[in-house]
Amino acid sequence: MKFETLAIHAGQEPDPNNGAVMTPVYLTSTYKQDGIGKPRQGYEYSRTLNPTRKALQDCLAELESGQWGLAFASGMAATDTVLRMLGSGDHVVAGNDVYGGTFRLFDKVLRRFGLDFTFADTTDPENLAEALTPSTKIVWLETPTNPLLAVTDIRAVAEMIKNHPNKPLLVVDNTFATPYLQRPLEMGADLVVHSMTKYLGGHSDVVGGAIIGKDKELGEKLAYLQNAIGGIQGPMDSFLVLRGIKTLPIRMDRHAQNAEKIVAFLEKQKNVKRLIYPFHESHPQVQVAKRQMLNGGGMISFVMKDGRDAAVKVAESTKIFTLAESLGGVESLIEVPAAMTHLSTQGSKLEVDPGLVRLSVGIENVEDLLADLEQALR
Ligand SMILES: *Cc1c(COP(=O)(O)O)cnc(C)c1O
Repeated sequence: MKFETLAIHAGQEPDPNNGAVMTPVYLTSTYKQDGIGKPRQGYEYSRTLNPTRKALQDCLAELESGQWGLAFASGMAATDTVLRMLGSGDHVVAGNDVYGGTFRLFDKVLRRFGLDFTFADTTDPENLAEALTPSTKIVWLETPTNPLLAVTDIRAVAEMIKNHPNKPLLVVDNTFATPYLQRPLEMGADLVVHSMTKYLGGHSDVVGGAIIGKDKELGEKLAYLQNAIGGIQGPMDSFLVLRGIKTLPIRMDRHAQNAEKIVAFLEKQKNVKRLIYPFHESHPQVQVAKRQMLNGGGMISFVMKDGRDAAVKVAESTKIFTLAESLGGVESLIEVPAAMTHLSTQGSKLEVDPGLVRLSVGIENVEDLLADLEQALR
């Protein structure tokens, strides 16, 4: 089946008992057993597995061309669970423009447990190769990144680390692109991680995360950790993400259509110093982006010529673009990363330009969005 069909049907079928077309929200923590050691259909306790979460997990696996999926309470819970495969002394190479919360978890929390991290420019495979050490167990990529929308060639990185002696796992945070635009497992990645809070949920009404992979042994290891640590997604939240995913392809197409028109508008503004969009001709990795992504997505970043104050002024002057953190919902959002989502990178090598403005372009009528930006920039 094609992607649009899978988005609506994968992992889901009408309830065999009563025909309910939508997956029920199974608000149960435990399950009747037919005898000691004889659970029905494998369900024993909802931290381990719940039917609503299972439907979502199976759907995610198919959308990402994986063999299994695991759903978590948040993107960070998913990320943390991946890192729990490692032990003291292990090394991770991560992109130098990863999500602020990922940087905080790696740099401020997990270092305390003896893990070591190097943040490298992953857009340049050679730079990444230099960061690898004999202890490197994971290479963690985001592409496109948040908020600079840097693009890394997933195939090139997969190819390069294949020959490294201890074969580090390639993990791709696919939150910004979604499986509709880009499927890292098809390009050689071992694991895909998501914040389902963003485009997969799509309506800014739920927080969630996911890990998807192909390798069976890796899947068993991570399912064990999911159950042992317990950062699972609840049934109601799993239902909301399942529902959101049904419209993912049409939402992503509209996000990108609107974004392209906004890019064309911003390009002409004199108070915008730099424009960043993966499918724009000025983007340094535009060729890679066009090779591995279906469209340019709904995220746009730009730098105001007059720096921080101008960025703050614009972000506080829009009326339809809501000043808020997060992204990927049907409604348009605006933020200033240096002062908001990426505050934790202040003073580090990952600090972002204070004049940077990030747009999450929604699926409203683009004429309204353009008029809003025009008055804010004025
Ligand atoms: C939001 C986000 C995360 C973290 O996910 P939460 O659901 O907020 O915990 C991780 N990676 C990226 C790229 C994100 O945008």
